[in-house]
Amino acid sequence: MNAILNADLHSHSTMSDGLLAPADLVCRAHANGVDLLALTDHDEIAGLAEARAAAQGLGLRFVNGAEVSVSWQDQSVHIVALGFDAAHAGLRDGLARVRGGRDARARRMSDALAAIGIRGVYEGALRHAGNPALISRAHIARHLVEIGVARDVASVFDHYLVRGKPGFVDHEWATLEEAVGWIHAAGGLAVIAHPGRTRVSRAGMDLLFARFRDLGGDAIEVVSGTQCGPQALEFARVARRYGFLASRASDFHGPGESAVDVGRAERLPAGLAPVWDRLV
Ligand code: AMP
Ligand code: MN
Ligand code: MN
Ligand code: MN
Repeated sequence: MNAILNADLHSHSTMSDGLLAPADLVCRAHANGVDLLALTDHDEIAGLAEARAAAQGLGLRFVNGAEVSVSWQDQSVHIVALGFDAAHAGLRDGLARVRGGRDARARRMSDALAAIGIRGVYEGALRHAGNPALISRAHIARHLVEIGVARDVASVFDHYLVRGKPGFVDHEWATLEEAVGWIHAAGGLAVIAHPGRTRVSRAGMDLLFARFRDLGGDAIEVVSGTQCGPQALEFARVARRYGFLASRASDFHGPGESAVDVGRAERLPAGLAPVWDRLV
């Protein structure tokens, strides 16, 4: 087995809020020199078969993935699942339940925006959703950019879609315990996604890491394309302290939208145990 030089274990397709179809994402990863890829659509595994077939055609190693939405202390936390059996009924049912809440949430966000005079957001966002079951804030943001409410997706989030802003609504996702339980039952590894983006205090993060470790959680994203570069050293220390494996992720959603392209995140800092050693 060749050494893994360029693992990217977090990416999105049109099955959730990515901009490329699963096979197109795989082609781009291959062109960018990725040699181990996970597709990790939000709460959804419907893109895995297409991605795996495309990867096989290109000789690219592929790992089943999903990014599970979790509620943790009034925040949403994302747990990436890697290397699971995609036919496992418990995991499939769990993801279906989490997905199932998205439509009503999107309608409530749309109602909240209508209350400040921005109408038709639900219908507009659905036109951006490749998979209507997976309507996300990213689709709402793209619609609001399209109708000229803000100049780009990032500023839509800042002004409308985060806690305290007019389009934000509370939502109950899975619990941390459920997410880790489903992933392990299906034979996968559980990874805390982009810990640098979780809006909780340092003490709150320590509680999250300790709880995740106690539940048997496996890894954290030390490097993520959606957290700032110097945070890698901070999360390398977290990985060592808690005994977590280390993951590397672009969290690529699409050209022109994501700051870091698939396969182009920074390398892991030295001295960590890479999660992909358990996946190949
Ligand atoms: P949801 O799962 O519906 O809450 O949507 C979360 C998704 O919105 C993330 O996976 C990103 O794709 C996108 N997102 C969240 N925050 C931002 C941000 N500040 N800028 C751009 N996209 C964001
Ligand atoms: Mn997303
Ligand atoms: Mn995420
Ligand atoms: Mn993601």
